[in-house]
Amino acid sequence: MQVLTRVLRDNVEEFGEYPFLYDGDLVYSNAESLRQSERIRDLLVAAGIQPGDRVLVSMPNRAEVFFVYQGAMMAGAVVVPVMYLLGRPEIAHIMRDAEPAGVFIDDSSLDKVLGASEDAGLAPRIWSADPSDRVAWLWERGDYPAAAPPELREQDLAVILYTSGTTGAPKGVMLTHKNLYANAQQVIASSPDRDRGVTLGVLPLAHIFGFTVSTVTAMLGSSIVIFRKFDVRQVFEAIQRYRVRGFSAVPAMLYAMVQSPEADRFDLSSLETVSSGSAPCPVPLIEAFQAKFHAEVLEGYGLSEAAPVVSGHRRNMPIKPGTVGVLVSGVEARIVDFEGRELPVGHVGELWVRGDNVSPGYFRRPEATRQVLDADGWLHTGDVACLDEDGYLTIVDRKKDVIIRGGFNIYPRDVEEVLMRHPAIAEAAVVGVPSERLGEEAVAFVTAKPGAVIDEEEVLGYGRQVLAHYKVPKALRVVDALPRNAVGKVMKRTLKEWASR
Ligand code: ATP
Repeated sequence: MQVLTRVLRDNVEEFGEYPFLYDGDLVYSNAESLRQSERIRDLLVAAGIQPGDRVLVSMPNRAEVFFVYQGAMMAGAVVVPVMYLLGRPEIAHIMRDAEPAGVFIDDSSLDKVLGASEDAGLAPRIWSADPSDRVAWLWERGDYPAAAPPELREQDLAVILYTSGTTGAPKGVMLTHKNLYANAQQVIASSPDRDRGVTLGVLPLAHIFGFTVSTVTAMLGSSIVIFRKFDVRQVFEAIQRYRVRGFSAVPAMLYAMVQSPEADRFDLSSLETVSSGSAPCPVPLIEAFQAKFHAEVLEGYGLSEAAPVVSGHRRNMPIKPGTVGVLVSGVEARIVDFEGRELPVGHVGELWVRGDNVSPGYFRRPEATRQVLDADGWLHTGDVACLDEDGYLTIVDRKKDVIIRGGFNIYPRDVEEVLMRHPAIAEAAVVGVPSERLGEEAVAFVTAKPGAVIDEEEVLGYGRQVLAHYKVPKALRVVDALPRNAVGKVMKRTLKEWASR
C-alpha cells in the first residue's frame, strides 16, 4: 500500500504546473506545494525531530497548513491538528496527552499555545507562520539541507486527531498512513464521475473531514480554494469565479447559504452537488437547499475513528433524503443489538464498521480503545442506525444521546426533524434531562426563523399532534443560537448544562 506522502510526488510528474492550492491571492502549483512541503520536512529533520515524534499544528486554513502536514509526514512525524479556535485549557489538555516535540502556529494562537505549553510543563520547538519576536518564524531562512526521507510503513502513525468532545473529553484518535490513504481511495472509488475541477476547502483542515477532502483533492490532481473561515459571500464568489461543480460542507454551512439574500447576485449555475457530513442534515434543509440552488445535497456519514468516511450518496444512485447513502467500497458494516448479535435488514441497533480505514485506537488509552474496537477489527461506532434492503444507511441518533423516558426510547433526531418543520422554527436540538419520576425527559432548544416569533405553548401543541405523547418535550426553550463547535456540530453537552440551569 502506498503511503499518502507519495501522492504529491506522483502528482508532480502528472500535473506539475497545474494549480493545487488557492489561498487568497496566492496560487501554488503541485510542484511548488511539493517543494514547500519538502522544505518543512528538511526544517524538522534539521531541528532534530525524529520519526514518531508528534508535531502539533494550530492554524486556521492557510497554505502553510498543507505544507506542514505533508512535510511533517514526510519526516515520519505524527501530525496533531488542533482547531485554532480552541482555548488555552483545551490546548493544554491535548499537549499533555500528545507531548509534541514541535509546534506550528500563527498569530491567531501564539499566546494560547505559549500559555498551554507552560501549563503542560513542556518546551516544544515552536514555529509561527507569521513573523514574531517571541518564537521562530517559519520563513526565517530559505532552504535547509535536504534530508533523506525515512522509510515509512503503512502501519506507521500519520495523524492523531482529538475528537471535538461534543460528548466527552477529547481523545486522540490515531490514524495510520494506511488508514488515510485507504479512506481517500474508498471515497474516490465510490465517486466514479469526479473530475479534476476546482473544489472549495471550507471545512477546517484541522478536522478529519477537511483533512480527507484535501487529500482526495490532491489524489485526484484537482485544485482546492481554501478559506480561513466560512463566509457565504466569499463562497458564492469562488463558485462563480472557478465554476465550482461540487464541494464538501457541514449542515450549518448549507443553512447559512440557504438563508443568505446574496445568492441571487452571483452566477452559481455550475454547482451540481454539495456533500454534507459531520452532523445530521435535516430533511427540510436538504429540500430548501435543492430548491434554492438546484444542486443535489449528497449526505454522507463518518467519524474520526474511520478516517472518517463510512457512507455517502453517489451521483449514479437514487438519492434517499434522511439516509446517509450507501457504504463506500471496502467498508463493511453490521447492525447489532446490545448483546452484539447481528440484526436483520431494517432493524435498528448499534452500527459497527470494519475496513482498512479503521483506526488502531486512541493514543495511550488502551482501555478506551478496547471499548470501541473488538478482536475481529469491528469498530463500535456508538451510533444507532439501520440499513435498508437497498443498502442505504440511516443514522437514527447517537447511543449516548438517546433519551430513555419511563422505559421508552426517544431519539432526539426524530423530535428535532418534527420541530424543524414548524414554520417559525429555524433550528432545533433536543437533549435529555434527569427526571425523578421518569428517569429522563426531553427538553428542546429552538431558534426562530428571521422575523418569526415562537409561541412555546403553540409549538408544544403542534408537537402533541404529530409526535407520540412520550416524545413531546417537557419544555421548549427559545435561544438566539445553538452552541456549536468549530465544525458546526451542536454541543449537546452544553445544552444539557443549559437545561439544568
Ligand atoms: P466526540 O466523539 O468527542 O463527541 P465528535 O462527535 O465531534 O467528537 P467526530 O468524529 O467528528 O467526533 O464525529 C463523528 C460523529 O458525528 C458520528 O459518530 C455521528 O454521531 C456524527 N455524524 C457524522 N455524520 C453524520 C450524519 N450525516 N448524520 C448523523 N450523524 C452524523
